[in-house]
Formats: sequence, structure tokens, C-alpha cells
Amino acid sequence: MSNANVIEIFSSVQGEGKYLGCRQIFVRLADCNLHCRYCDTNFKHAENCLIETSAGSMTFRAEKNPVSTAQIVEVIKTFSETAPTHSISFTGGEPLLHWEFIRDVAIAVKNLGLKIFLETNGTLAEEFEKISDVVDIVSMDIKLPSVVQNVFNLHEKFLRAAQFADLYVKIVVTDETTREEFLSAINLIAKVNPNILLILQPVTPVNGVKAISPKKILSLQSIALRSIRDVRIIPQTHKFISLL
Ligand code: SF4
Repeated sequence: MSNANVIEIFSSVQGEGKYLGCRQIFVRLADCNLHCRYCDTNFKHAENCLIETSAGSMTFRAEKNPVSTAQIVEVIKTFSETAPTHSISFTGGEPLLHWEFIRDVAIAVKNLGLKIFLETNGTLAEEFEKISDVVDIVSMDIKLPSVVQNVFNLHEKFLRAAQFADLYVKIVVTDETTREEFLSAINLIAKVNPNILLILQPVTPVNGVKAISPKKILSLQSIALRSIRDVRIIPQTHKFISLL
């Protein structure tokens, strides 16, 4: 059994992508291997792990980090007993930095029948391969060069490793997204597998970030649909109703 620095664990609703609206238990792991410009996630090492006191209460107690898989498994069991749950979302930060912890938790909760959902920045293919047998759903971000350094070679490896899972790809698009970098991302996905679902997520305009115009996002969808079969525009929805 392994330990990890976990930022928080709580029960809420998936607010993005293909599984929008599904009840999930979120396990937010510390640390990330990237430094995106618009990152609004608190993923830094924390002294304590915040644990929701009951599923959906939005109040928390603190336990010292690192926490053990046994502690997290206990919370998952309690939450799923009181709130029927679709899946456990391992998020971050970059959760694959803690692949051993994810594997241990996934195996320990197998009998609860919850799906294992991985939210990843899609740059750690080798780590993914170590746990691909316990992961059911992969939500992979493609990071555009205007957001972080160019990591397309890492994305390509990851797409090839994960393409046969229940995989969808998400690209956060902003007013600054250029046609060139967007086309490069589309070509990358289409080269690996044009049947991979693509979600275009308009950046949430907070902390001084400028919203993307409706005209621009519609034009990006049209460009993507020339090479990729299914392209959907879905904003972050949990923030509309102040969910965690
Ligand atoms: S990959 Fe995600 S968590 Fe990491 S810096 Fe980028 S937006 Fe933040």
C-alpha cells in the first residue's frame, strides 16, 4: 500500500467534458509536471489533505499529508454508500505522478463497482501504461504552445497509449489561441485516430483571463470537424452553480 500527498477529496458533479453531470468522488493529487499560463488549480504540496466531512457537505476536516491508500479508500466507501456515485475522478495537478497510489486505490475499491476516471494533461504515457488496466475513462488535455511549452511529442505518445480506452480529448481555447497551433493539435489527433471525441472548452474568464468570442469558437469547431468526427463545445459548468 502506498502514500501520496492529496490536496482534497470530495463528492460533487463532473462539470466538464463527455461525462458532464455525473456524480463523482474527486481525489485531487498534489504536484504537476507542467506550468500552464491559465492554471487555476491549487495543486501545490499541502501540509494537510482536506476531506469532505460527508458526501456533498462542502465542509472539510484536515488530515496530515501524506495520506495512505487505506485512508482514501475508507472515505470513498463512506461517500459511495450515502451518494450513489458514477466514478472516482483522479485529478490534480497531474495524477499520473502518483500512478502507484492510483493503482492501489483502484484495486482496493474494485468491488464497489465505481469506474476509475483519470483527468490528465496527457504527457506521461509510460506512467499511464502502468495503470491502463485499472483505468476505465481517460479525459486528456492537449496543451497548446501558447499555454505551455510545446509538448506535442509527449501528447502523441500518450494518445497512442490511451486511444483504445474510453478516451476523450479536451482543448481549452482562449482568445489568444492561434489558428496555426490549433490546426497542429487537430492534425495530431487525426493522425493517431480521427474517431477520438474532441471537446473544445472555452476558457473560463476569471482572474483577468479574456473570454473567447462565440464567432471564434464556432470557427475553431468547423476547422476541427474537417478532420475529427465528433467535436463538441462544452464550457466548465460546475462554476455556474458554485459546485466544487
Ligand atoms: S497541467 Fe493542469 S494542473 Fe498542471 S499546470 Fe497545467 S492546468 Fe495546472
